[in-house]
Amino acid sequence: MKVLLLRFGELYLKGHNRYVFENMLIHNIKNMLAGEDFRISKTFGRYVVTDYREEREIELIEKLKRVFGLYSLSPADEVDSDVEKIEDYISKIKCEGESFKVFVKRADKSFPISSMEFAKKLGEIVLNNNKNSYVDLYNPEHEIYVDIRINKKAYIFDKIIKCQGGLPLGSSGKGLLLLSGGIDSPVAGFLMARRGMMFEALHFHSYPYTSELAKDKVITLAKHLTNYVGNLRLHIVSFTKVQEEIHKRCKSEFMITIMRRIMMRVANKICEKYNLGAIITGESLGQVASQTMQSMTVTGSVVKDIPIFRPCLAMDKEEIIQISKSINTYDTSILPYEDCCTVFLPKNPVIKPTIKQALGEEQYLNVDALVEECLEKEEILEVSSEFDNRD
Ligand code: ATP
Ligand code: MG
Repeated sequence: MKVLLLRFGELYLKGHNRYVFENMLIHNIKNMLAGEDFRISKTFGRYVVTDYREEREIELIEKLKRVFGLYSLSPADEVDSDVEKIEDYISKIKCEGESFKVFVKRADKSFPISSMEFAKKLGEIVLNNNKNSYVDLYNPEHEIYVDIRINKKAYIFDKIIKCQGGLPLGSSGKGLLLLSGGIDSPVAGFLMARRGMMFEALHFHSYPYTSELAKDKVITLAKHLTNYVGNLRLHIVSFTKVQEEIHKRCKSEFMITIMRRIMMRVANKICEKYNLGAIITGESLGQVASQTMQSMTVTGSVVKDIPIFRPCLAMDKEEIIQISKSINTYDTSILPYEDCCTVFLPKNPVIKPTIKQALGEEQYLNVDALVEECLEKEEILEVSSEFDNRD
């Protein structure tokens, strides 16, 4: 019988809470495969997807590759874990002229032959049936895996497809992603989701300084993220008034510092209102003036009671770009529409601002009123996906 054999990674580190994580993972797999015909069952250390339509196998694999917490998977054949039945299956393998290696793994210790011995025996069977093939233990062209599980089934396959790893979505709470139109913030959201964190997203726009297209771009980015996180709530807030006020009243080199502090305050309030436990940004240390240690200290200092997560902090741009390509956001991110941060951009932003200087600039503004105004005009968009992880 054709099956998909799924392996999960770190979950076994979770001790007594393990079943909570496993249930979440199963739940997320079912959600991701919603609309497909399939069954899923569990045997210690593996999940097995069965009864699916074979012509949908490629799509199923693509979907499963987006489920966080799965480590790898293999399309496999399931046979009874009986020595003769496995040998019979192996005797039909064709790898004429190729080098090969047999890997046997025996989770079921009651299976009568040791893994090493059985691998050797199966290797001989392959050799007998493929006269010109030969064993290569180090760099085989053809790999034959036999995984003997405690459910008295053996799974035979020839490839291991890497999945995302990480932790099941939802197992690390829910945050708020500050989503710009750039490359880094969608990647930041993806990375936190891979660690099990769900999120809602917040975007600031500066209409009419920024166009409708800039907003559409962010909606498209959010849509791409839904492939991983399911339905996604996007909060959209107008930042025009804030920027005009800062531009009018503060020193231009502090424009970005003060803007970021107000963004953080708004984000903090939205987290409070919607019960979100962290702010997520795409900042990367030293990438631009607003992302130095000092700048992050000054912008972070206005946030109360919750952490700011910056999963791209220690990554090079190249690495971030690679991830953004792999999650399909890159082509959208590089579309050339202005972001609100590029409007009123000062020529020489401060690189090492202090909290004292920031407070000094903010006395010319009615910060609380500006934050309130942003919140009053908040618009909420539900960006829908093929599946919903929130139920
Ligand atoms: P990105 O590629 O994510 O835009 P960036 O390298 O362009 O990052 P900045 O523009 O300095 O960096 O923004 C730093 C972070 O601040 C972003 O990663 C994002 O989390 C947040 N941010 C910036 N602009 C906005 C915006 N208009 N709306 C929401 N969040 C924003
Ligand atoms: Mg940006």
